[in-house]
Amino acid sequence: MTTFEVINPATEEVVRSVGLTSAEETDAAIARAHAAYPAWRAVAPGDRARLLRRFADAVDADIENLAKLEVANAGHTIGNARWEAGNVRDVLTYYSASPERLSGKQIPVPGGVNMTFHEPLGVVGVIVPWNFPMPIAGWGFAPALAAGNTVVLKPAELTPLTAIRLGELAREAGIPEDVFQVLPGKGSVVGQRFVDHPAVRKVVFTGSTEVGKQIMAGCAAQVKRVTLELGGKNANIVFADADLEKAAATAPYGVFDNAGQDCCARSLILVQASVYEKFMELLEPAVNGVVVGDPRLEMTEMGPLISAGHHAKVSSYVDDSAPVAFRGSAPLGPGYWFPPTVVTPPDLRHPLASDEIFGPVVAVVPFEEEADAVTMANHTEYGLSGSIWTRDVGRAFRVARGVEAGNLSVNSHSSVRYWTPFGGFKQSGLGRELGPDALDAFTETKNVFISTEE
Ligand code: NAD
Repeated sequence: MTTFEVINPATEEVVRSVGLTSAEETDAAIARAHAAYPAWRAVAPGDRARLLRRFADAVDADIENLAKLEVANAGHTIGNARWEAGNVRDVLTYYSASPERLSGKQIPVPGGVNMTFHEPLGVVGVIVPWNFPMPIAGWGFAPALAAGNTVVLKPAELTPLTAIRLGELAREAGIPEDVFQVLPGKGSVVGQRFVDHPAVRKVVFTGSTEVGKQIMAGCAAQVKRVTLELGGKNANIVFADADLEKAAATAPYGVFDNAGQDCCARSLILVQASVYEKFMELLEPAVNGVVVGDPRLEMTEMGPLISAGHHAKVSSYVDDSAPVAFRGSAPLGPGYWFPPTVVTPPDLRHPLASDEIFGPVVAVVPFEEEADAVTMANHTEYGLSGSIWTRDVGRAFRVARGVEAGNLSVNSHSSVRYWTPFGGFKQSGLGRELGPDALDAFTETKNVFISTEE
């Protein structure tokens, strides 16, 4: 078996060696998931709900261990990693309520009785990126299992450790082994088999827009269901009438959280020209105040980038000619450290203003009028999230309705709440995860008509 050495991005030390699943092993796992499906979908709704609640309890009891694994594997701050493990517990608990509420409709029709059923799909393949290994896995497997599907899950090559642990916790909770299988391995091998294997009836993919397009094209060959959560270049729009102090104090955390490796990072700040200077004056101390360092420490607010390769990619955007306004600090020595960086590109065509850099780099660009802000926020092919800072309620609604993105927040930078739908417009994705309707994405609607004629 070929193996992959998992590296701690804060120290560059090897954490553990993980075996990579081969194409043949993936096919065998898919066959087992397919065989396990009839029994799993037949589990009584109340029993399936109980199993998911037990799984949630097992995650809850293991939060500290899961969080420490993520700190070592992904360099996430301990505070973030605890939240992420807690999110898996909460999402499991939330969807544990669904098996007992997965009701269809009785629709009035002439000549009989008409009912709809929400039938599970079969085997669901979940492909996860490295930036949020725990939550993104949970957003796929929790509703998929609740709806009666069996799941094969592939973590990213770089970050398999928490997914492997979640697989163990599922088994400890009594979820049958073949109902939820975690298969560490390469995208081009394991992920590709999810796309190509006919027994996999749906692929849930979170990752780059480039790979997402390949997945969608591959799934088209079998009209395979697909949910895509892809990249983002999200605007944080600050109007002159906003609480500027609060907007500036929070802006760094809207983009530098998880070292900017967040599809929802507000990496383009659009500031109304009349307050641009004032905003930049307030932003500089806020950026300097971001605590970058050892992710194990409670006080740390930002850790390292995920890998040497990603560090090189982010660095390529900030060469000597880059229009850097100011930068925060980062540790020296081993680890893939990158300081929070504020840049002022001349216009939105500049790669700093248009590319998803996926690191702690934020571009600040002025705008004149409200309509300009909306046009500028929409200049990108992405459409995932964004923030609007204003005290004018009418403006908040006008701009929120005008920006082409799936998740907007006013006077806040939050995008993800498991109670509400999450997903992208345009090339940021297809379909929605989370929220009350997530099971629609893991079921087919079946219509049954029964004649009442004599
Ligand atoms: P990536 O596209 O390189 O990889 C994502 C996953 O797909 C990995 O598990 C990888 O192994 C797998 N993969 C790669 N090639 C494949 C193939 N040919 N077939 C099947 N699977 C394949 O992305 P990444 O670098 O791991 O993650 C960063 C990207 O994810 C960013 O663009 C980010 O915006 C995006 N992202 C989006 C969301 C969202 O919800 N919209 C959330 C987090 C991350």
